Amino acid sequence: MKKFTIAIHGGAGTISPSTMTPQKETAYKQALQAALTAGYKVLEAKGSALEAVTHAVIELENTPLFNAGRGSVFTYDGKHEMDASVMNGKNGLAGAVAGVRNVKNPVLLANAVMEHTDFVFLHGSGAEELARVQQLTFCDDQYFFDDFRYQQWQEVKGSDTTKLDHSNEKKFGTVGAVAKDIEGNLAAATSTGGMTNKRYSRIGDTPVIGAGTYANNSTCAVSCTGHGEYFIRSVVAYDIHCLMEYNGLSLKEACEKVVLDKLVKSGGEGGIIAIDQTGVPQLIFNSEGMYRGYYCCNEQPVTEIYR
Ligand code: ASP
Repeated sequence: MKKFTIAIHGGAGTISPSTMTPQKETAYKQALQAALTAGYKVLEAKGSALEAVTHAVIELENTPLFNAGRGSVFTYDGKHEMDASVMNGKNGLAGAVAGVRNVKNPVLLANAVMEHTDFVFLHGSGAEELARVQQLTFCDDQYFFDDFRYQQWQEVKGSDTTKLDHSNEKKFGTVGAVAKDIEGNLAAATSTGGMTNKRYSRIGDTPVIGAGTYANNSTCAVSCTGHGEYFIRSVVAYDIHCLMEYNGLSLKEACEKVVLDKLVKSGGEGGIIAIDQTGVPQLIFNSEGMYRGYYCCNEQPVTEIYR
């Protein structure tokens, strides 16, 4: 039994050594390590799992390497519309936002929905109004701009293609974290810019509680990344919880059943990170790679990219 643990992801997809330079790989690993450390420090100081996942996701949102916060992909209209959610396994409370613009850390806004309103899910201008009321930081469009994401958008701009891939390289750069704290509380958080060239205010699985994010102290905390439509239809995070709760599967069995069997059959590419009361994380994906890492109490942090 691990006293406390944090696990994170920075998206899954066709990520192979051939698409990576050593410099890029180092940069990704450093960013993952920084996020793990941010979450671990909270847990070490006896902070809550909820605070730990929030801190880790803020760190990932602040780097342009991932498709969340700064570095989010471009919509059909050349904007950044971000989705995020959090869930606290201790009391079953959750907060989520979709389609928010210019909010520096959407995960903090999802937290604010949970902490400061009677609601679970806000979108667009209403969610931004809450961000202003809560005095969260706003940034101009320039802050969110990343040239790589811009070039990705240029390739499909004006078409109806919603871009998941780039030069034969499928990437989902969503970020997420799950944690177990010293008191045995579990929590999950997920944040994304969604899919390049998304249109009509498309919303993916990331802010959908039960699809992209779920946490319950009696079973598990889960954060997902992948082709959102498949994850919504399969209610992925909640399905893992249900397999544990109703069928008595272990966390590993439940994650493998959903990600390596059910999602594969339905054509849903991506992966998940999950944790239960043992504190042993599962980081499982059916794509070529997933940016990921975990840091268990009194052990060395681990970061990995490829299968
Ligand atoms: N799941 C996200 C979405 O569909 C994409 C991702 O994981 O990168 O919006």
